[in-house]
Amino acid sequence: MLALSLLLAGGIVAAAFFLVMIKRRQVRDAADRDQSARREHTRNHVLELLAHGAPLAAVLEAIVLGVEQEHPGMLCSIMLVGNDGNRLYTGAAPSLPASYNDAIDGIEIGIGAGSCGTAAFTGQRVIVEDVFTHPYWLPYRELAGMSGLGSCWSEPISSVSGRVFGTFAIYHRQAHRPSEEEIRLIEQTANLAEVALGRSYADQALKDSKKLFSDILENVTAYIYTKDTQGRYLFANRLLRERFDAPMEEIVGFDDYKFFDAETADSMRKDDLRVLQNGETIQIEETSLNILTGVTEVFLSVKLPLRREDGSIHALCGISTDITERKDIEEHMKHMAQYDALTHLPNRALFEDRLHQAIAAAQRNREHLALMFIDLDKFKPVNDTYGHGIGDLLLKEVATRIQDCLRDSDTAARIGGDEFVILLPSIESAADASKVGEKIRISLNQPFELAGNTLGIGSSIGVAVYPQHGKNEKLLVKSADIAMYHAKKNGRNNVKIYQPGMQEVSQ
Ligand code: GH3
Ligand code: MG
Repeated sequence: MLALSLLLAGGIVAAAFFLVMIKRRQVRDAADRDQSARREHTRNHVLELLAHGAPLAAVLEAIVLGVEQEHPGMLCSIMLVGNDGNRLYTGAAPSLPASYNDAIDGIEIGIGAGSCGTAAFTGQRVIVEDVFTHPYWLPYRELAGMSGLGSCWSEPISSVSGRVFGTFAIYHRQAHRPSEEEIRLIEQTANLAEVALGRSYADQALKDSKKLFSDILENVTAYIYTKDTQGRYLFANRLLRERFDAPMEEIVGFDDYKFFDAETADSMRKDDLRVLQNGETIQIEETSLNILTGVTEVFLSVKLPLRREDGSIHALCGISTDITERKDIEEHMKHMAQYDALTHLPNRALFEDRLHQAIAAAQRNREHLALMFIDLDKFKPVNDTYGHGIGDLLLKEVATRIQDCLRDSDTAARIGGDEFVILLPSIESAADASKVGEKIRISLNQPFELAGNTLGIGSSIGVAVYPQHGKNEKLLVKSADIAMYHAKKNGRNNVKIYQPGMQEVSQ
């Protein structure tokens, strides 16, 4: 009976024990479920903040507070590696004493720089169960004492590529050894912080690169724009907006016909289509009238197609540089190289070029042309009597009078001091050329009124006709020169047509 009672009592105790165990497990399971629900809630909240572009400080604080709410005995912080890469700065530590945060803000990263400084340096988790005995905390023991901190576990927050963004730390007020669950917690939280920081840094990098790009576009001294396939502007940089005297919204959606005359816009559209339809990258010179200044400007434009991933073209990008000034200088230099500075008539180089072309054309078309050499008579005495300045004025006036005797298709050039040449590209006969020569001689023989002086001058003119007086440039020039020499010999102030017998006389 006793044995039966004992057995029964034992059975009851065992059953009660099992009931207690089951109950405990149920309680623990419920607590675990609660905890993971809270952790999930924190995680979702943080991701939501990120998705809405909340400031980084707010996101980090939400992470820290989430852990602290889940575990009331914990005080947490997120420290961030500064731009210099050598120091840690407080990212979020809302529950740690302000004096403590101030003291460690900017702490140098390195072995022995507390748990966080060491974790950031090594890239490894640092568990300091008791800050008053651990060597890493030697310099900070007093601070820890004043701040009421007993332990500090720190997990580096690292990107996949191994870059350390910062640290996540859990403090307790007393010495504390982490459980496996707490190690999981610190790992998971550091991961969440890594997502937030990675996203934030990527956003920042994108913003920085957008800003850099925009700074370049807005400050470069070139017109930069994009246009869609219809030629409508999608973007115009600051310089172009100023050129059009319009804000972006009055440019975007409009084509060149709003900003240029129809002819210019037509030609721009033609070039644009080469880029948009054929996919060419082109470099062209564009001339356009500036509606603000009324000045015609020249641009060197590079236009290239902008493509989608599949290769199709959706727009073009143009970069146009104002080369008006450069063109003006080029033109000026070209002019100086080809024209006489005093009379502005073509010089010898340009004349030779024109003569070469005219002879080639005359040969092709079996036509005649005439070459005339003019040398002023007794010009030196003009200089001697009236001075070089008056001599110059006379040469200019001579150039004008010669041109007044010619047609547009004729070319007069100054090839030396008082030497002029004339090309009559299409004449019927030597007599025609002689008539022109006579006209010039008479004109130059009229008195000149120069700065209050009345001057008279004559001219000796030699005429040679292609092809009979010279089958090429060299022979023709020689014949005209000989004819002129004969005019001089013949008492000056007369016109001589080249005759085959003349050569012997001159030599
Ligand atoms: P000729 O009747 O034989 O042609 O004699 P000329 O006095 O006209 O003298 P010549 O044709 O032999 O020489 C031309 C002179 O023109 C030489 C020089 O003093 C003068 N001369 C040359 N270039 C210039 C210039 O740019 N300006 C001025 N004022 N005089 C020049
Ligand atoms: Mg002379």
